[in-house]
Amino acid sequence: MADRTKKADLKPKQSPVQFMDTTLRDGHQSLLATRLKLEDMLPIAEKIDQAGYAFIEMWGGATFDSAIRYLKEDPWERIRALKRVMPNTPFQMLLRGQNLIGYRHYADDVVERFIDRAIINGINVIRIFDALNDLRNLKTSFRATMKYGGKVQGAICYTVSRFHNNDLFVEQGKRLEDMGSDSICVKDMAGLLSPYDAFDLISKLKAEISVPIHLHTHDTSAMAVATYVKAIEAGVDVIDTAISSMASGTSQPPVETLARVLEGGPRDPKFDMDLLTEIADYFIEVRKKYSEFESDYTGVDPRVLTYQIPGGMTSNLAQQLSEQKALHRMRDVLDEVPRVREDFGFPPLVTPASQIVGTQATLNVLTGERYKVITTETSNYLKGLYGKPSGPINEEIQKKAIGDGVPVTVRPADLLEPEMEKAKKDLEKELGKEVENIEDVLIYALFPKVALDFFKYKDKPVAEKNLDSASAAEPAGPLIAPSEFNVKIHGENFDVKVGGVGHPGEGGRPYFIYINGQLEEVMVESLMEVMPSAEGRIESHAGGRSIRPKVAHDGDVTSPMPGAVVSLKVKEGEAVKAGAVVLVIEAMKMQSEVHTAIDGVVIAIHVSEGDRVNPDEVLVEVRPTS
Ligand code: MN
Repeated sequence: MADRTKKADLKPKQSPVQFMDTTLRDGHQSLLATRLKLEDMLPIAEKIDQAGYAFIEMWGGATFDSAIRYLKEDPWERIRALKRVMPNTPFQMLLRGQNLIGYRHYADDVVERFIDRAIINGINVIRIFDALNDLRNLKTSFRATMKYGGKVQGAICYTVSRFHNNDLFVEQGKRLEDMGSDSICVKDMAGLLSPYDAFDLISKLKAEISVPIHLHTHDTSAMAVATYVKAIEAGVDVIDTAISSMASGTSQPPVETLARVLEGGPRDPKFDMDLLTEIADYFIEVRKKYSEFESDYTGVDPRVLTYQIPGGMTSNLAQQLSEQKALHRMRDVLDEVPRVREDFGFPPLVTPASQIVGTQATLNVLTGERYKVITTETSNYLKGLYGKPSGPINEEIQKKAIGDGVPVTVRPADLLEPEMEKAKKDLEKELGKEVENIEDVLIYALFPKVALDFFKYKDKPVAEKNLDSASAAEPAGPLIAPSEFNVKIHGENFDVKVGGVGHPGEGGRPYFIYINGQLEEVMVESLMEVMPSAEGRIESHAGGRSIRPKVAHDGDVTSPMPGAVVSLKVKEGEAVKAGAVVLVIEAMKMQSEVHTAIDGVVIAIHVSEGDRVNPDEVLVEVRPTS
């Protein structure tokens, strides 16, 4: 046990407030859907390193997923590249305990290797939390961080419910210190912590805990500056801010504002204000490049205190809904989130709980019936595979999700077999070559499906694809575009796939094109004479990928939402019972089982694994036997 009271008394109360810059992680995660690219960080990195921050948060959270899923960047290289130009300020990353930077629990061997690589590449401090504040889920990552020489920052996820209060959080803080935390963070990911609650909570923590206390909040309700000031009065050691042009709203409050508030006082951080201005100016320009990722939900919104949804989650929900062409349902989804959260025992809304709750709420709204579709992650959560929330779980929903299965009570990762070796083998099989790079194996172990797309892309750059198709085109004829390609427009990558071609009519010929998996109908009017042979080639190529049939029978199996087929569970000719799983779809980062509504025989399958699908298409046809 740490001797808390004595050490706390010895600590000087008037030391300068230390700042952590979140611009390169939470700032763009909250405002720009985590799309900031390394190339836009590097030119300003050196200045951030010199500005006077105690820590720079530049990795973890959603940055890893986003790097491989959207930016096609190697997330490991980001640490190394930034470290080369930012050698002075310690790097901090955000880690979701046993979930690492993913959405499920990984086996202990994955956690250990991941942390080892993160530290080797240049991460100094790891802020570790569990979405349910279930401390059993922190054990392995704490142990690994200590083993590989990183600093452990144990985090308490702050939330508001009738099952949470400051005394509970202080108890948790004490246990985190006992577990070996080098510092403790109050992680208010939704910006719910009011100034006076902050004063109370930080005062109590400072009285009980001897290691430094960090406070992380978001400015969504516009009270974060006040919250920090009261926390500073209560003796908080470190606060999280972003540069002004990447601050406020759902991001952190601006560093410059806090620096001015404290200027001349006993806890003045003494920033180089000119340098901060220069950094702010830089991001004013950079932010413009990412305007397509700005949503209507990243500004000041005091309703966050009612909805209790973190900034990152709100902008992700908006992004997801717009991908589902259902942005107009945003308010309904925001209303549904607290109901799902209550059913789930009031988890703090932080990843992965926020993603699981958010996607389930979205499904509840879009399918028109609560829990009509239950994601795999929801059933795992209700089985106890993510740990134990502070409140009770709705047993009726739990029964619906797990049937007669018994919820688990042990540390969830104790149920997991080691995964690294299998991941390596599977990846080698997928790529058809040996894989020596453990960082690639980790990418695959964490996000198998996205990883394969990423490796495929990495192996075959856009330029090479263009060259292939250009040289394949007949020199005398018109150039034929490939039917599937990536295109980079204004710095953003799009996956384009021609799904099919219709018969020409007035206004041209209809092309059915998937853009990032979303089906669009485009009328093409040719401006030149197309040679018959060339046209024939287009038709025959696209013919194999004909548009799937429209729903017409009870046995037609469809996806509840646009997504990708993860696995196909039936074969043609197979007999199936009503309710049997036909296939698994991934949408909004979560997987859902798709069932047959009737007993019968599978007479046709119109998809294969990896295909993008839409709700109006028949994926599998089941017909009654009699
Ligand atoms: Mn945050």
